[in-house]
Amino acid sequence: MKITGECFCGEVKYSIDGKLHDARSCHCSRCRKAFNSQASAYAIVEPKEFNWVSGENLLTSYIGQHGFGLQFCSKCGSTLSGVYKGLVHGITLGCVNGDPDIKLGKHIYVGSKASWEDIAEGVPQYDGFPPTNS
Ligand SMILES: [Zn+2]
Ligand SMILES: [Zn+2]
Repeated sequence: MKITGECFCGEVKYSIDGKLHDARSCHCSRCRKAFNSQASAYAIVEPKEFNWVSGENLLTSYIGQHGFGLQFCSKCGSTLSGVYKGLVHGITLGCVNGDPDIKLGKHIYVGSKASWEDIAEGVPQYDGFPPTNS
């Protein structure tokens, strides 16, 4: 299965020759700002299965203190991918085209969610990071 995604303006496009893994939504205050939303919606990819198709030159990055960062389209501002130590680590689900055949599997850092958000039930919620696996 091939998964594709692109930014809001369509200049930056990617494809994934494989599956997405461990889709999660993080409700911490940092993710709210990074994803301009009530939470992140993010899934892990295998770096070797991920390819930029176009617009890679338009990407700009913000790398945080632990080596984890996010990549954006410098033209439209869409947040496309997470990077860790220079490799693509995951993608934002909002930029995926169509159905990537995965559902959000957990809500994390629910303990610091925004006061204005009510999270729908039915998906496991954790106050912080889940105690086992990632
Ligand atoms: Zn764009
Ligand atoms: Zn977070």
